[in-house]
Amino acid sequence: MKKIVVKFGGSNLRDKIGMKNIIQAVKQYNRPLVIVVSAFYGITNLLSEHLSVVLADGGKIQGLKDSLSQLKKEIIEDFISSETLQQKVIEETRIRLNQLERYLLGMHYIGDIPLFLEDLVLSYGERLSSLVLAAVLTDNGLECEEVFPEEMGLYTDGEFGNATVDFHLSDQQVSTRLKEDKIFVVPGFYGISPKNKVTLLGRGGSDYSAAAIAKCVNAASLDIWKDVNGFLSADPKIVHDPIKIKRLDYTEAAELAYFGAKILHPRTIEPLMFDNIPIRIFNINDTGRGIVPYSIIDNESDVSEQIIKSVTHSDDFGVLQLKGPGVGIKPGILAKVTGDFDDEKINIKTVLTAQTAINFLLDKKDLKKAYNHAKSLNLKAVNEIVVQDDITLIAAVGKGLAENHGIAARMFGALSEERINVQIICSGASSVATYFIIKKENKTRAIKAIHRAFFE
Ligand code: ASP
Ligand code: MG
Repeated sequence: MKKIVVKFGGSNLRDKIGMKNIIQAVKQYNRPLVIVVSAFYGITNLLSEHLSVVLADGGKIQGLKDSLSQLKKEIIEDFISSETLQQKVIEETRIRLNQLERYLLGMHYIGDIPLFLEDLVLSYGERLSSLVLAAVLTDNGLECEEVFPEEMGLYTDGEFGNATVDFHLSDQQVSTRLKEDKIFVVPGFYGISPKNKVTLLGRGGSDYSAAAIAKCVNAASLDIWKDVNGFLSADPKIVHDPIKIKRLDYTEAAELAYFGAKILHPRTIEPLMFDNIPIRIFNINDTGRGIVPYSIIDNESDVSEQIIKSVTHSDDFGVLQLKGPGVGIKPGILAKVTGDFDDEKINIKTVLTAQTAINFLLDKKDLKKAYNHAKSLNLKAVNEIVVQDDITLIAAVGKGLAENHGIAARMFGALSEERINVQIICSGASSVATYFIIKKENKTRAIKAIHRAFFE
């Protein structure tokens, strides 16, 4: 029987109700599964914050261990009835926390956070949740086995912090290890480098690890459990009663995720698209619905009547502008800047060039570093470097956007009626997305206006 890979994320592992719902969901599948799990809500951030705290003060390790162990203990006591199993899990939790302690202590003593150690430490959020989840499910009559990525050979390219899965190395080994018809529980978020080091798959990366495993085992589907009703036509915090999107193309989902839809990690699509393994999105607060997805992402989505399927937005972008009277025509500027940004691991989201300015769209958190680096290059043709961080990027996504005229007119007509000034527009970079930048203060009005123009 083909496997289903099921992913539960931090939003599912927030409180005791979340755990109850997970048990309910797994029971309903009533078949062998590969479950990929994230850290409990907020734990990766907690670990990450503790890196620098512990570097300065080794005495802070105990407090971290205590709070992690307390969190697990509450779940263990509430959801595991067998005392023997309870003891076993508490003991194993203790062992893993001691490992974590040793790595943190090592870091403290050497006075440095080497990349390989940072990745290893952050993987402990997932290592603790997979341990607890596997035991809870087993105690609830859903016997399962915990398997680590390093044990099944989920190999990556070895880049710390943001690795890519190497399918040539992983495919066979992973599918062989997960062959048996049973439930496996795997900690998400990391794989193993060719040199056997833990490498993280980027923040929020357990969606991507689940997708990679789904590809390796040629799964029937990748099922992602969230706490919302799948993909929507807009953010429900901004638009009242948005439309639920039943079906999306891989490219549509990828662009939506890239431009801000928090529901899916943008890299989830990559491993699945060419094998046409569908992604199904469920709501963990609605297990009463059964195994019936809210959204399905595959190759079979049609062009919708409105063309646009969803309007998404992100406040995480910023603009770095290199100004100079001739920057457009002068060769070599982009090469210098992009080469430098690449060395600094600054990801460029978009570049838009004109004769008097080059605009880089970057992650807001990289803006300052990017500004300093661009400045230090002392580019002769550039006489001013401007940074903008009070902006929102809004993207309208839908198959058929490139082929249908009038869509942009409708969109920008709606903005003009609201007297909203658009700073930068980009169409055509992807055939399914148009995006633009406005002042952040106009975000809500802009999204409402576009949604009205297409859906109401
Ligand atoms: N726990 C990891 C993070 O917070 C991975 C994930 O949640 O997908 O980034
Ligand atoms: Mg996540």
